Amino acid sequence: MESLLGKVALVTGASRGIGLEAALALAQAGADVAVNYLRSQNEAIELVEQIKKLGRRALALQADVSRADEVKRMVAALEANLGGIDILVNNAGINPGRPFANLTIEDWNRTLATNLTSAFLVSQAALPHMRGRRWGRILFLSSVAAQTGGVIGPHYAASKAGMLGLMHSYANLLAKEGITSNAIAPALIETDMIRNNPAIRPDLIPVGRFGRSSEIADAVVFLASNGYITGQTLNLNGGWYMS
Ligand code: NAP
Repeated sequence: MESLLGKVALVTGASRGIGLEAALALAQAGADVAVNYLRSQNEAIELVEQIKKLGRRALALQADVSRADEVKRMVAALEANLGGIDILVNNAGINPGRPFANLTIEDWNRTLATNLTSAFLVSQAALPHMRGRRWGRILFLSSVAAQTGGVIGPHYAASKAGMLGLMHSYANLLAKEGITSNAIAPALIETDMIRNNPAIRPDLIPVGRFGRSSEIADAVVFLASNGYITGQTLNLNGGWYMS
């Protein structure tokens, strides 16, 4: 596997859940890591301290990644402190729950902005550095919802399917420049996102349990360490959807 030593990673939404484990795993694999968060400042600072203890550089960056102005500010701060982004994990996401017939345009816009527009904004901001270095890894935390519709609703499924289009386009456009673009499509990973939702039960999953954030983090490191996989969706779903 290619070493990640000296590479700089940005994980959006890294204060909790999958993003937190991915940030930690990338640091364990050698990368310096910027930890983006929206509100969970204490958790983000605690994670930064943990990463520094591993001997890596780390930085907590507050920003709402659905907003162009905040993404610009965040990436400028990252570049000033750590250099540019070599590995981008587009992970920040929300899943507003409401019976689908009652979904509002506000639910739709907020979900699309947070889950999909954010990935476009941060990727576009990261690309000049990656293209200059002719090395980069762009990862998208999509979902089984992109493939089957899932259990959250049409707003969430559409946002996650949109990420796959974005991923395929970057993979095509950047293949000759040393930059790979891939997606991870998890199902039912035990984080705050799925807690307290009675529609989400482990018996839905063929392997009979929820997934662990650390299992997704392993896949993040794997894809970041491999220059020949691009344009792919890696399914980590306990056998729920078989490709
Ligand atoms: P989570 O535990 O709810 O954590 C969400 C993270 O996103 C938090 O760090 C949160 O920051 C951050 N965030 C939310 N809105 C943001 C914004 N506008 N700007 C910046 N950060 C923002 O979620 P998770 O389960 O780890 O999910 C991570 C990703 O995997 C999501 O994209 C999700 O859709 C996807 N996914 C999850 C599952 C699952 O079963 N858990 C399945 C498939 C796909 P704060 O802590 O500051 O609020």
